Amino acid sequence: MAIKQLLKRTSGWLYLNSPVGRHQLHGAGVILMLHRVLANDRAADLPHRNELCVGPKAFAHLLAWLKKHFDCVPLMEILQPGSVRSERPKVALTFDDGWRDNALNAFPLLKKYQVPASIFLSTDFIGSRQRFWWESLGETLWHSHGEKARAHLIECLQQLGRPLPVLLDDLDVQRRSLALLHFLQSLKSLAPGELNRLTDQCPEESLPQALDWHQVRALEASGLIRFGPHGASHAIFIGLDDQRLDEEISRSRNALHNGCNRPLPVYCYPNGDHDARIREHVADHDFPFALGTAPGIYRGISDPLALPRIGISQRTARNPELLSWRIYRGARP
Ligand SMILES: [Zn+2]
Repeated sequence: MAIKQLLKRTSGWLYLNSPVGRHQLHGAGVILMLHRVLANDRAADLPHRNELCVGPKAFAHLLAWLKKHFDCVPLMEILQPGSVRSERPKVALTFDDGWRDNALNAFPLLKKYQVPASIFLSTDFIGSRQRFWWESLGETLWHSHGEKARAHLIECLQQLGRPLPVLLDDLDVQRRSLALLHFLQSLKSLAPGELNRLTDQCPEESLPQALDWHQVRALEASGLIRFGPHGASHAIFIGLDDQRLDEEISRSRNALHNGCNRPLPVYCYPNGDHDARIREHVADHDFPFALGTAPGIYRGISDPLALPRIGISQRTARNPELLSWRIYRGARP
């Protein structure tokens, strides 16, 4: 392990276990952001999946570590704390998008460790075959669906003036995966319509990518999971005019109210992007709280419509001491 990583791990651990650390985190809450839990850890280790995916072993390791150092609470227990005071800092888990693997791979482990979580749904995807473009494009380019599908997609990308970088043919798996990550990030500048058309060119997976409403209700009935909205189409809010923005917020809000018993009064911005105009619209739709992606910890004094979160990658889940380093950075007064 690199010296820098070792220092981060050690100082993060010392911080969590020191009187100073415990004092600074007293009454504070850490909100973690996850997306997917894959069926195996090796797949999640690759750079192009590492940020949004964790593997089951790493996730179980993270949960055990969290239980050791934190009170693992439902999100609302951080946002509207009850009367029970605890000496330990609180942590709440959130998952974005509404991936099917949240039910298949994440939930069994959440149940085993009795850790509550909140899942934020991009509601157009729930119960439909609609697909998230970065997953379909990424995996097709990664050869997960065969050479013919990959070649066809590369041709479509070329026609859009987005040729594949040569590094994507590198023999080294890590370098190839990293190049794919950068290429996918560069595609974010394409119009949503173009991204959808490219997604349509990718082969269908055997199972839908997203949860269906039956799964949502079953997870909710477990008492361990609650749900909130994360856009309807996952369009990035800052690019929308007022009318489309209101449509996205009310469509996702209505879907949650129809599909769940007790939807959360918390909005989760797609991609985390928001500004004053967007926060106002979200508040107008009766959401007193909203989650962003800016790192930090919650002390009850931050803007409730711009709540900070700390992202969990496969790397962090494997080495949760790195998380204590990031909490230390976020907790510094
Ligand atoms: Zn998202």
